[in-house]
Order: sequence, then structure tokens, then C-alpha cells
Amino acid sequence: MPEFLKDLLQTAFRMVPWPTEPGLRRVGSPGRRSPVLLTANYDLTVRRLVRALRGVDAWLLVAPAGGINVWCAAAGGHLTTHQVVTALKTSGVAEQVDHRELVLPQLAATGVEGLAVFRRSRWRVRFGPVRAQDLPAYLAANGEKTDSMRRVVFSLHDRLEMAAAWAAPISIVLAAGALLLRPAWTLPLVGLCFGLAAAVFLVYDRIPRHRKLVVGGAATLASLAAVFLAGGGSAAHAGALLAPAALLGILTMDYAGSTPTEGSGHFDGQDWKITLDLERCDGVFRCWEVCPEACFEKREAARVVDLAHDERCVRCGACVVQCPQDALFFQDGAGRRIEPETLRRFKLNLLGKRTVGVPAVDDDAA
Ligand code: SF4
Ligand code: SF4
Repeated sequence: MPEFLKDLLQTAFRMVPWPTEPGLRRVGSPGRRSPVLLTANYDLTVRRLVRALRGVDAWLLVAPAGGINVWCAAAGGHLTTHQVVTALKTSGVAEQVDHRELVLPQLAATGVEGLAVFRRSRWRVRFGPVRAQDLPAYLAANGEKTDSMRRVVFSLHDRLEMAAAWAAPISIVLAAGALLLRPAWTLPLVGLCFGLAAAVFLVYDRIPRHRKLVVGGAATLASLAAVFLAGGGSAAHAGALLAPAALLGILTMDYAGSTPTEGSGHFDGQDWKITLDLERCDGVFRCWEVCPEACFEKREAARVVDLAHDERCVRCGACVVQCPQDALFFQDGAGRRIEPETLRRFKLNLLGKRTVGVPAVDDDAA
């Protein structure tokens, strides 16, 4: 199948796994000092990564991770410390290179604990840029990350991809029903589905939660008025009511944990805040390296970090998982804490809730 068709298919149906063969691959003509990069065995990711690395010589270690993307695999417990250590030990990569440095995607930081990988394999982990296209510049700069390389931006391209991934499977169901009952409605329904999904993903995180009902209500009234003015019949009025209702339903849905910019649903309705114990911080800057919202600033001279932008925190937990000193944790207004070790066991389920293997928060409270 041509590459662009594979891209299209796997983007539109990214909700289902697209596994590719795990194992060690050559990119270009790697040698004994070439970098070793690791990613999840999601076919679309691996093909995009290889395209981004054109002109670079590197070893690519594809780890078994359920055939899903890095963020979901790491947050959901499919790309873990264990998977990474196993891939390092079974792939034969150690015989191919003279160094023991592994570059992981930054978004793997919620699930793969760098220090634990080192303890179990003696490979040092660095977290590379968020996006594959920044890898050549990152490698050329000897692993120095610019601000834009480490910050997650939910770009127009990302939003449209997410919209396509939502609309494609729903469209198939709608189209099948319409073809059976009202073939003439097939194309308008599919168009409406893609249009609504695009509209939602362009704006849902930009509208404050309390205004979403107002937006949905206004859309419903506008839609009914448009049909009334156009002289539509009862079927058109029903459609005019249903479409904004669907829009409102998707707009108000809880997306917690579904992207790196959505906080974990485990914290819903609670005031857990990321907290830094400066006494423990020894300036390794792992938190700075992995935070997708660039909440930390380095104080190089004092070898500590500042939690300078905690208002941006989406409570993904990556910094807590990676801090080798356990200097970071979540704390609520009543002084209760979620300890780093507990957070390292949290995994997101399909609804973005951190529930797998999680003791009740109260059990962990100090
Ligand atoms: S908070 Fe932890 S990871 Fe961040 S600089 Fe301090 S010791 Fe390092
Ligand atoms: S500061 Fe917040 S957003 Fe940044 S890594 Fe930590 S938990 Fe995630």
C-alpha cells in the first residue's frame, strides 16, 4: 500500500492499534557511536520517525507497546520501564554500540522511569524532543533541548488529526445506517460529522468550561432559526436540534488525560497541586526536561529548579515520576500528599482516568 494511503488510514482510525514489528532497526548507516533512539511499536509513529530522521545515522529500537502511540502507551501502562529494559536486553543493541545512552520520546516520561531503567540495565536515559521532526536538531546539538522542543503545543495539524480520528469511525456507522434507510442523507451526514468534529477540536479547550453550555445553547438557537428562515420541514428541524446537541455533547465531554495537555481525570474536582521540596532538589533538571508545559525554570548556579509556572500544570505527573530525589509530589489544600511512588503506579484507562492499580487517594494521604 502507498505510504500516503497508510498515513491516511492510520490517522483516520488511530483509535485502534496499528502494531509494527518490534526490534532493532537501522536508520541510515549507523555505527558504534551512533545514537540509540527508542519508540513505541505504533506503525504510524515509526514511519514518521524514520522520515523525520532522513539524513541521520541512528539505531532505532522499536519497543512492544500494544501498537499504540507513545503518549497513550506510556500513560496507559503499555510502554513502561519493564518494556524498555526488555527491549534493551533482548534486541542485541548493546553489541552494536560502544556507549550506553538511550534517547526516549519526551512523552514517554509518564510511564518509563529513567532512573529505574539505569538501575536495571546500566543504560542512561535522556528524554528527547516532543516531536520527531526536532530529533535531527536535538541530536546535532548533543541533546540540548530548546523551549519549543520540550513544550507540547496542540497545533492546528494536531487538532485536525484528532477531529479526523473521531469523525472517521462515527461516519462509517452513520453512512451505513443512511445507505440502508435514506441514501440521499449519506454525504450530508458524513460532512456534518467531520464538520462538527473539526469545530469541536478547534475550540473545545479554548472555551472556559462554564461558557460551553452558553455556546451550545446559542448554536442550537442559531441552527433552529436558520432552518426556520429557510422554510425547512419537521425533519430539518429535528436535524437542527440534534446537530448542536451532538456538538454540545462532544464539547462538554471530559477529555482528561486523552492528550498530554489534558490533566489526569484522577484529580477531577480536587485541588491537588504540584509541589516542590527545595530541600531535596539537587538540580538534575529531569523535571525541566520532561514537563510538557515548561512549568520549570533552571537556576543553574544554585543547582535547583523554580516551579515558576505552576499555573500551567496539567497534572500529567511526568516530573514526579522522573525526579530522582522525590522532590516533587502532589499536595492538596488540606496538606494531603500523593507520594511519588504512588504516582509511578498510576495508569490511565481508556477514559483518561488514573485508576489502574491505584489505591484510594485517602489510603495514601499522610
Ligand atoms: S525537582 Fe527533582 S528532577 Fe527537578 S531539578 Fe530538582 S531533583 Fe532534579
Ligand atoms: S509540572 Fe505539571 S505539567 Fe509539568 S510535568 Fe509536572 S505534573 Fe506534568
